[in-house]
Amino acid sequence: MAEKFTFTPTALADLEPNYDVVIIGSGGAGLTAAIQAHELGLNPVILEKMPKIGGNTTRASSGMNAAETNVQLHHHIVDSFGDFYGETLKGGGMNNQALLKFFTEHSALAIDWLADHGIKLDDLTITGGMSVMRTHRPSSMAPIGGFLVTELLKQVAAAQLPLFTDVKVDELIVEAGKISGVKATTPDGAVTITAGAVLLATGGFGANKALLGQYRDDLKNYQTTNQPGATGDGILLAQAVGAKLVDMDQVQVHPTVQQDTDHAYLIGEAVRGEGAILVNNQGARFVNELDTRKNVTAAIDQLGGTGAYLIFDRGIRDRVKAVEFYDHIGLVKTGADLETLATETGLDAATLKQTVADWNQAVANHNDAAFNRTTGMDRDIAAGPFYSIHIAPAVHYTMGGIAINPATQVLNQDERPIAGLFAAGEVVGGLHGNNRIGGNSIAETVIFGRQAGQQMFKYLQ
Ligand code: ADP
Repeated sequence: MAEKFTFTPTALADLEPNYDVVIIGSGGAGLTAAIQAHELGLNPVILEKMPKIGGNTTRASSGMNAAETNVQLHHHIVDSFGDFYGETLKGGGMNNQALLKFFTEHSALAIDWLADHGIKLDDLTITGGMSVMRTHRPSSMAPIGGFLVTELLKQVAAAQLPLFTDVKVDELIVEAGKISGVKATTPDGAVTITAGAVLLATGGFGANKALLGQYRDDLKNYQTTNQPGATGDGILLAQAVGAKLVDMDQVQVHPTVQQDTDHAYLIGEAVRGEGAILVNNQGARFVNELDTRKNVTAAIDQLGGTGAYLIFDRGIRDRVKAVEFYDHIGLVKTGADLETLATETGLDAATLKQTVADWNQAVANHNDAAFNRTTGMDRDIAAGPFYSIHIAPAVHYTMGGIAINPATQVLNQDERPIAGLFAAGEVVGGLHGNNRIGGNSIAETVIFGRQAGQQMFKYLQ
């Protein structure tokens, strides 16, 4: 059992008036950028507006996508940057190709960089729209988000980097055409912090109903999986200094979110990746469960508002540690056999039994004639107890945001860099096109977080 690690944010009294770089946001992108910048000799500060560190990153479950990694080779998977690029583009349709090229070609380096910091993602799973296992995760199979944030915070603590919580950036300061610092609100009042460069690592706007409504009126009544601080502040901060925004109407609705309680819990794609199926309220399959998020969402919406049910067994549950958590908080129904599960869940028992029998046959034959599913078929649904989780789509990820170039420089309306302003992570638009692939958001935070740390160093030289 790993030792419990608790991170203590820096005391507000230690906030300095000047740093080399101000990093706004403590999710995967902000933490990675801070560590990288520090390792290049810079003096960064991380400002987080919430009392809790880690943003939406802590909620990520599946893993981190990368191609051509040594981890894949250990698992006898020969992958290529080209396939990773092509499949992501196929899923997203309108991805910014320069960003996507940088992303895919630096993915393996990001896995190595994490490993160099003792952050090992040695196990693999698969997400919708990918043809091979390239979703890296810890060998404990723990959800990636909490694991990554905790491990990055160990690095932040070891390097004694200042990280303040409850400090909200309200404004970027521009001087002689360059970004030269921020104005922020702290529990003790307003402060001004000067810096040579500023990184927006503030995440998306899935929890900002007004902003969502402005771009996607149809989504304003959906629940969201996002943390309450995901309000798009960075987008508005950048816009106020002339940044260009792209794809703001591209919002990902995640197909499998449990929302029968007062909170929306995302049930990670790994549950389907490891073999779960989806059934309607009769107990029949209705979709290729590992089609893209967009297509699976559309299929569930077509059921007419009933939502759908993930069905899996002990063998699949053992491969996805997050299920222990879902069960602990009461999201999972259990049956010693399929008949009991159907009764517990409110499905038709005969239909569910037939559905599972047909599915197990498809797994055995490697041929899903009904829905052409080709992945997540490594194991059948045969070892009781059996489980179900009721799910429906919810707002999950905002693909649109600030325009950047592959050097993470924020671009103005003329697509020229705004001097001193950088952005990385979900706050950026364009990489994912109209559909983000599961496992690509965590990869984006580490790949572009590292890049931002490096480019701010270069800019400040
Ligand atoms: P990413 O995955 O891109 O790293 P996250 O959602 O994980 O994004 O993290 C972004 C973090 O930025 C969140 O913890 C959020 O609370 C924080 N944040 C957002 N706006 C501000 C702001 N104005 N000032 C400080 N922190 C902010």
